[in-house]
Amino acid sequence: MGEQRVDVVVVGLGPGGEHAAIKLGRAGLDVVAIENRLVGGECPYYGCVPSKMMIAAAHVVADVRRVADFAGAAQVQPDWAQVAKRVREEATDDWDDKAAVERLQDSGVTFVRGTATLAGPGRVEVGDTTYVASRGVVLNTGTAPAVPPVDGLDDTPYWTNRDAVALTELPDSVVVLGGGAIGCEFAQILARFGVTVTVVEVADRLLLPEEPEASELLEKAFAKEGIQVRTGVEIASVGYVDGTFTLDLGDQQLSADKLLVAAGRRPNLAGIGLETVGLDPDAKTVETDERLRAGDQLWAVGDITGKGAYTHVSMYQAAVVVRDILGEDGPLADYRAVTRVAFTDPEVASVGMSEKQAREAGLDPVTAVGDLGARGWLAQEEGLIKLVVDPARDVLVGACVVGSTGGEILSMLATAVHAEVPLPTLRSMHFAYPTYHRAVATVLDDLP
Ligand SMILES: Cc1cc2nc3c(=O)[nH]c(=O)nc-3n(C[C@H](O)[C@H](O)[C@H](O)COP(=O)(O)OP(=O)(O)OC[C@H]3O[C@@H](n4cnc5c(N)ncnc54)[C@H](O)[C@@H]3O)c2cc1C
Repeated sequence: MGEQRVDVVVVGLGPGGEHAAIKLGRAGLDVVAIENRLVGGECPYYGCVPSKMMIAAAHVVADVRRVADFAGAAQVQPDWAQVAKRVREEATDDWDDKAAVERLQDSGVTFVRGTATLAGPGRVEVGDTTYVASRGVVLNTGTAPAVPPVDGLDDTPYWTNRDAVALTELPDSVVVLGGGAIGCEFAQILARFGVTVTVVEVADRLLLPEEPEASELLEKAFAKEGIQVRTGVEIASVGYVDGTFTLDLGDQQLSADKLLVAAGRRPNLAGIGLETVGLDPDAKTVETDERLRAGDQLWAVGDITGKGAYTHVSMYQAAVVVRDILGEDGPLADYRAVTRVAFTDPEVASVGMSEKQAREAGLDPVTAVGDLGARGWLAQEEGLIKLVVDPARDVLVGACVVGSTGGEILSMLATAVHAEVPLPTLRSMHFAYPTYHRAVATVLDDLP
């Protein structure tokens, strides 16, 4: 086995690993970046990017259907072939990472396609080569779809997000197993293109980590669109016979042409040699400090850190790692104001702590919830804003917005949580009329 000496090895090139490799390469370090699938990871090929392109198409279909309520008549004949073509050609380059590999190489990074394993501090093996990194190793191995241990499921040809983004034709019916953000997004896309969709969730509501008020509104929106939602169920078994999936829910048998499993993510940590760097090989997440250091000559970023499975978290962490490796000053990792958006319609957008999380953190939060309501006569929709306040400091520690532009309205609340803007300062702001974010002023006034 040959040895090569370099400055930094990046193992796994999700959004964070790719970002770190490029920045470090451009800074003149000798960087080797190793990826066993596609450079960029889940987000550009199987996650955020293709799913958001599908959501955009589904929005347009839904908008046309609303014409009857406002402006006469319009007809839409959704055609999935066009969506599939755009995903293949514009979003994923037919699941080809040539452009991303070139971007790495143009930044002076040596790219290696292969599966890497850790072989002690600063040492990484791939194929016949051991890379010895003088500065250290950045671990960004990400996650894969998790498949719950349901009797019979493993023997069926179920889909995961990786199949769903590559669909060229739609089935008549789908059961979506999992009512988290990914399951809900796919459920609504498929339903808007005419698929009969049932969402099955073992928890007692959709989007469990978010505010219960948000789940309630989303379930109402799904019901209006004809998406069936079964929450609080136990799935006894899954079967597949003659092209039909059957789920035994005890009190109900569900059948569908396809089954999409969107039941969380599994970290790509098994067998990667964590024990060689003094870490638990069975760990579900890699513990990191505020510089994302995970051990001797080791940094970890992305989903595997358990700080929020989002592209923006992975890239935020990568920026901290780059500064640490280059010895630059800058803010340390801080997770008080992590933002997250389920891109359903309405969007469910949150920052910081939910009311429940604030209680669990030992705060005695006060909250207020208000309608998003009308945007003057520009638009009107059902939506809400919930604010979570730490009364001891008179600052927001969390907020949730449900609305068609919830993720955008969230930005001012994210600033408030991040910068710990005092409530009197927030109340003294100008809120443009007629915007949705003006509803923030009303909810601030409603706080006890
Ligand atoms: C359907 C879907 C929609 C999503 N939508 C959004 C969204 O709208 N917004 C958002 O912020 N997030 C979204 N996410 C989450 C987002 O995709 C991830 O959080 C993001 O990709 C960050 O992941 P990561 O950096 O941990 O690495 P990943 O993207 O998981 O990439 C890690 C890479 O490392 C590779 N690898 C693993 N082990 C090895 C090894 N031993 N050697 C070499 N290579 C290895 C993997 O093959 C993979 O390519 C979505 C996810 C899904 C599935």
